[in-house]
Amino acid sequence: MTLSLPAHDPAGPALEVVPLGGLSEFGLNMMLISWGETSILVDAGVLFPDPELPGVDLIVPDLEHLEATGRRIAALVLTHGHEDHIGAVPYVWPLLDGPVLATALTLALVEPKLEEHGLEAGDRLVTVTPRERITVGPFTVEFIRVTHSMPDCVAVAIGTPEGVIVHTGDYKVDQTPPDGQRFDLHRFAELGSEGVLALFADSTNVDRPGVSGSEFEVVDAFEEIFTSTRGKVVVAMFASSLFRMQIVADLAERFGRRVALIGRGMVENSEIAQRLGLLKIRPGQLLRDSDLRACPAQDVVCLATGSQGEPQAALSRIAIDDHRHVKLEPGDTVVFSARAIPGNEKTIGRVMNHIAARGADVVYEGIRHVHVSGHGSGEELKLMLSLVRPKVFVPIHGEYRQLARHAQVAVQVCPDARVLLARNGDVLRFRAGTGEIAGRVAAGRILIDGTRTGEIAGEVLRDRRHVAADGLLVPVLAINRQTGAIEGVPDVIPRGFVVDDRSESVLAEAGALLTEIVEGASVEERTDLGLIRERVRVELQRVVKRRSGRRPLVVPVVMEV
Ligand SMILES: [Zn+2]
Ligand SMILES: [Zn+2]
Repeated sequence: MTLSLPAHDPAGPALEVVPLGGLSEFGLNMMLISWGETSILVDAGVLFPDPELPGVDLIVPDLEHLEATGRRIAALVLTHGHEDHIGAVPYVWPLLDGPVLATALTLALVEPKLEEHGLEAGDRLVTVTPRERITVGPFTVEFIRVTHSMPDCVAVAIGTPEGVIVHTGDYKVDQTPPDGQRFDLHRFAELGSEGVLALFADSTNVDRPGVSGSEFEVVDAFEEIFTSTRGKVVVAMFASSLFRMQIVADLAERFGRRVALIGRGMVENSEIAQRLGLLKIRPGQLLRDSDLRACPAQDVVCLATGSQGEPQAALSRIAIDDHRHVKLEPGDTVVFSARAIPGNEKTIGRVMNHIAARGADVVYEGIRHVHVSGHGSGEELKLMLSLVRPKVFVPIHGEYRQLARHAQVAVQVCPDARVLLARNGDVLRFRAGTGEIAGRVAAGRILIDGTRTGEIAGEVLRDRRHVAADGLLVPVLAINRQTGAIEGVPDVIPRGFVVDDRSESVLAEAGALLTEIVEGASVEERTDLGLIRERVRVELQRVVKRRSGRRPLVVPVVMEV
């Protein structure tokens, strides 16, 4: 079914909320809020695929429902700058008829994404500050400061003709936030006493008892590591973990080490945050990666991307001794300062093995307290519920079991609240002070391929329709797990790949091309299933594109024998 429009609804317009992503999954956060003809969207996130999922770089919510109903978005409201909340902004852009409302850092992180897609933002990126209110048609959007693992995060309270709805965004209650910007508990309490129709709240850590703790809790473990490491320290983290970056950089200063930023995302994000004054690293303390080799190891800390074992990220290259500037030696320590996203454990484990093989120490969350979650635990979720005391509660941001548990917690804290356990695509209709799940619309995912090969704008969208146009190539090869040698004759199976003069010759030579690609890799890389699969995918795609002009989806099958 589609969203009901006022003309068809005898009871007049109702408030409708449709989660289009983020429920029963981590990522793709996106929620549509409509009253009558006006719709706004809260967040537009992506999901990073499991590194084992071949052929896919990025997953974005399917906007088929919006496209089908012809609905235009009067405003896009963003809670914070994490990819699972802003990564899909360029894909939503064509449906947007109004401003993007977000804090300064969030917008600064969105800007390069729009540029990369050749989109002109003009004056449509509107910077907001906490407690500011902006009117969009029948809605009043208010921003409320929350604390998380990066600066400048907000929740939103949206005034609607049916009452106020609160969307927490991602949060934990950090009583000593590194940037001094305190969680605005007072405002949540005020809203609660004025009356809130519905609360949509982060469920990520509902399974954890107690509180998650301040970002500063990692300091002790890092002090120990800095004291005991003879060589260099490499800290792998998300490029968006700006608080972690600041804390490690400050410690480095105290211990007389200089900081090198390794990986494109790390460099770009730190530049953005420094420009806004949200990350402070003394210019003399920063070390260019090309100067690393000239600097004694004990004087260096490298902050690197690749904490999830992503094959293309800096840490994976460093681990197999294939990085231009960073070489691991015995006496070095590599710290994984991030949570292992479920599903990535195997890939991360392989990267750790490579690092250990270089003689460096590996430190991760299970050994030392080198990571603190940015999401609130059980008691923090209860605090939010008891402050806001909503009439209707909808758990969001989590897998289904976490949403279900959060629903149980809500019943304990707010026995009178109505709890709606929703799925992506459910239409939640609010009227006369209550809400119900009133129907369903299409919601799904679009798989995107190509961002890592350097292809940009127009060309990046690789969904099912594109597969239909350019087809699919499945390279199949067997690799000796000890020697890394190719066993037998590699082959490429085409499906729906249009064969013309140009593409025919590529197919004819496909076996030889595969051999060449594999032989161009080091033995260590060849014997790592994840790395070699990624190399085959990227390289084959590049050759096929150059020689045939086509961009088929490449899904390698690599067997270890
Ligand atoms: Zn976040
Ligand atoms: Zn999130």
